Amino acid sequence: MKKAFIIGHHEKSKGAFSPFLKTTEWDFYKSIEYYLEQIGDVYIHNPDINSYTKRCKDIGRRIGSDYDLVISLHFNSFNGSANGCEVLYNKPNQISALIASKFCHLVNERMGIKNRGAKGITGGRGYGELIHVQPNAILIEPFFGDNQSDCVAIIKSELVEILNEL
Ligand SMILES: [Zn+2]
Repeated sequence: MKKAFIIGHHEKSKGAFSPFLKTTEWDFYKSIEYYLEQIGDVYIHNPDINSYTKRCKDIGRRIGSDYDLVISLHFNSFNGSANGCEVLYNKPNQISALIASKFCHLVNERMGIKNRGAKGITGGRGYGELIHVQPNAILIEPFFGDNQSDCVAIIKSELVEILNEL
């Protein structure tokens, strides 16, 4: 399966900060970019485009239609006690739904992080990264960056291996 990765957020707005991993979403995935490049092509958003929707359309155009799967890379953050892995996909796409479920299952099995499941969405947070790319896309949030036990459990090399197996 030919894969493209989108590193969530961008240089000027790096997403959530994890006090336990001492990193933002952007820096967390930038730190494994070298390994991601071994299993797919890595794309980053243009930080000079101010609108989220326009950034997503721009990256979608650059990614094009040669890939089987586009994976947007994020981590979650809420209130410190929420934990687990969840993956978003565009609700009507049942192929993406299956891949999203597989990812959640593997994260749970290999690292013991709670499986919050695959969530089909029709709008809202993260939707742009799912609908402006084609054909199949998932947005992963393998752990909560503000939850201590999730941050202890997450293993970067294992995460890359699971992404490789999708
Ligand atoms: Zn994010």
